[in-house]
Amino acid sequence: MSCLFCSIVNGDIPSNKVYEDELAYAFYDIDPQAPVHFLVIPKEHILSAGAVTPENSAVVAHCFEVIAQVTKELGITDFRVVSNCGLQAGQSVPHLHFHVLAGRDMTWPPG
Ligand code: 5GP
Ligand code: ZN
Repeated sequence: MSCLFCSIVNGDIPSNKVYEDELAYAFYDIDPQAPVHFLVIPKEHILSAGAVTPENSAVVAHCFEVIAQVTKELGITDFRVVSNCGLQAGQSVPHLHFHVLAGRDMTWPPG
């Protein structure tokens, strides 16, 4: 099965890496929507937030540890975490990812 983000994790497609460990990978978004915009993904292929189960939820929790650690390292205190799930919600890559956006005022509700 070919998956864009699995290809980024295994190095077949280059990315601007922010962080990596055995469970998670973080890299800057190719089309940033804020002055800071990176993605945190589990290395394990999970389709979306709708595919989180008791078996894989530990890596999802780990992604949030990564978000807290990386934002701290970048000196970011105010940020937004977004995970689009499904086409109607705007998910374009079917591998679970958390957008981390920062560096500008955010509006609510999101569009
Ligand atoms: P989604 O639309 O699924 O919520 O988010 C997918 C994100 O992946 C988009 O913000 C898009 O800009 C980003 N993206 C798509 N292809 C690539 C790529 O090849 N490299 C990087 N760094 N980001 C990508
Ligand atoms: Zn994948």
